[in-house]
Amino acid sequence: MHSLRILQNPYLDKSLDFYHNIYKEFCTSLNRIEVKFLNNQDITVQGVYNAPDENKHEDMFAIRGYLSCMERFAVGIDEEIYDFGVFEKTVGAVLTIHWFNRFKDFIIPHLCDEYNLTYKKLEFLVSRLKIEQEKKILKQEWISQGLCRHCGGKMVGRFTRKCKSCNRKEQSYVNS
Ligand SMILES: [Zn+2]
Repeated sequence: MHSLRILQNPYLDKSLDFYHNIYKEFCTSLNRIEVKFLNNQDITVQGVYNAPDENKHEDMFAIRGYLSCMERFAVGIDEEIYDFGVFEKTVGAVLTIHWFNRFKDFIIPHLCDEYNLTYKKLEFLVSRLKIEQEKKILKQEWISQGLCRHCGGKMVGRFTRKCKSCNRKEQSYVNS
């Protein structure tokens, strides 16, 4: 019953359609890229074109395909067709930041073009992901030090422990 109700949510329908339209191209391009560029070096346009590799056109095609998927995700999130939190869980923050950095050479020319807004949306999405990642790391540090998971304040009280700064009670850390 519950899952049926979720499926009837028009926002979620739109969101799932959106994801499924991009999903196949996203997976195909990313799989090829991941197999091809195993080390952590930056990938440049010239580097790919000059590679003595008979499959370099397919590589270029995969890179363009991947970046086009990322652009569409960024625009979808910006226009609230696709949810930022869902993107974090499905596509993944670490992976997106990783490839955004390595494909800088492909991305920067578009960022310098003042009429190209989609790449600016992608850049904004990546900066949001970085902020969320940093928050998660900080939160983990607070938890490991026995501090308040919300603000990093000191926990006081013997029976019900409360944060001295934000006054929130201690909770189980299972559903962070
Ligand atoms: Zn607190």
